[in-house]
Amino acid sequence: MTDDHFFSDRKAAYYTLGCKLNFSEASSIGRSLQEAGYRTARTGEVADVVVVSTCSVTEVADRKGRQAIHRLARQHPGAQIIVTGCYAQLKPDEVASIPGVSLVLGQNEKGKLLEFLKLKNVESGIRNYPEDDSHAQPIPDSSKVRVSPLWGKEAGEAVFMPSCSQGDRTRWWLKVQDGCDYFCSYCTIPYARGRSRNGSIATLVRQAEEAAAQGAKEIVITGVNIGDFGKTTGESFIDLIRALDGVAGISRYRISSLEPDLLTDEIIDFVARSRAFMPHFHIPLQSGSDEVLRLMRRRYDSALFRQKVQRIKAVMPHAFIGVDVIVGTRGETDEHFRQTYDFLRSLDVTQLHVFSYSERPGTAALKIDGPVPSAEKHRRSELLLALSAEKTHAFYASHIGRTATVLLEHQKRGVPISGFTENYIRVEMAPSPTPLKDNTLVHVRLGDFSADGTALKGKEESEQ
Ligand code: SF4
Repeated sequence: MTDDHFFSDRKAAYYTLGCKLNFSEASSIGRSLQEAGYRTARTGEVADVVVVSTCSVTEVADRKGRQAIHRLARQHPGAQIIVTGCYAQLKPDEVASIPGVSLVLGQNEKGKLLEFLKLKNVESGIRNYPEDDSHAQPIPDSSKVRVSPLWGKEAGEAVFMPSCSQGDRTRWWLKVQDGCDYFCSYCTIPYARGRSRNGSIATLVRQAEEAAAQGAKEIVITGVNIGDFGKTTGESFIDLIRALDGVAGISRYRISSLEPDLLTDEIIDFVARSRAFMPHFHIPLQSGSDEVLRLMRRRYDSALFRQKVQRIKAVMPHAFIGVDVIVGTRGETDEHFRQTYDFLRSLDVTQLHVFSYSERPGTAALKIDGPVPSAEKHRRSELLLALSAEKTHAFYASHIGRTATVLLEHQKRGVPISGFTENYIRVEMAPSPTPLKDNTLVHVRLGDFSADGTALKGKEESEQ
């Protein structure tokens, strides 16, 4: 009996929280279950297996994970509920104790979810695992937890789980790197995802080629600390992007995020003259105060950050630059925040991604004096969000009347088809005499703002 036969007409449900990397990995898990014969449960159907991919970026994320598990256990009575992701890695026993949870898989184990599922099925009598299969080590009934420590010699090297998946929209996500060795004082990611590791350039190029063969036009390069690429293979990020640029069929790459100290002039100059890397950057600043950056144990100062932004704008004047910033970290005074605000106001960036600091157990930041009250965090956050809206509006407005190429995305019912320009401006298309299809590139003239102000209106000039 084949796996396909065995798993036919079995239903799986998925729930994912957190970052793009989590979504990319969850989508790879979904694909492996689908290849094994599972179909996605429709709304109202009771699934046989529920996969919950958790996040632990804040206390709120942990709570959302717990609430989701309770809800899914009610919606899918009798299902095997398998929980993975950062919250599962950091607090496996807490997760295992939630009623309904069948199995907790750590970051090193989630790529083998199907194998664990088969083993669990042995225990529940659903299936006889093939006798000659060397993986067949039944899990003791008492244990729901399969989490290896990601740090510590006894655990060995954390494994790199490859993942290249199609998002909901036109975009594909290629995970090139995982983990982080930086240990910024406020961050739990090194504990939740382990040390920095990566796939090889040859494998990643092959994955991009396979995505292209399946129709992918745009790939977002994801990871935790992408610029640190190459730790495990002795390669470098610049060589990776040079190799990916040569993959035929992929018209667009976006780099999800690069630490300022790793965003070299060489990378910026390469993007500016590359075939397919878009003029679109996402750089975490976190604070515009050098004192706060030191408390955060970040590896750059505001002068270096400014220099990177200036370099990008010198060679790509229309580049979109998104910036992450955290408000209300311990020790951030009114004066520090004012420095951050003034610094960001003076920078030629496009959008701010504003996060409120959240205390995470086990982080060095807990030892810093001067916690910021939540009302004050909220006030600072609102000020930066207003600044962000102003900057994005000005960036969009400066493009009215220009031409651009838009990659059209899947059209939602009742709204005009839309897509993004090379430099990440969202464009809502005017009705066209020829039907507009998703995943195609169209040459457009950019008009005024759309009715809700979140996009520019676009009119097709000629198909490319
Ligand atoms: S660079 Fe710092 S903030 Fe980013 S994942 Fe690594 S430790 Fe966390």
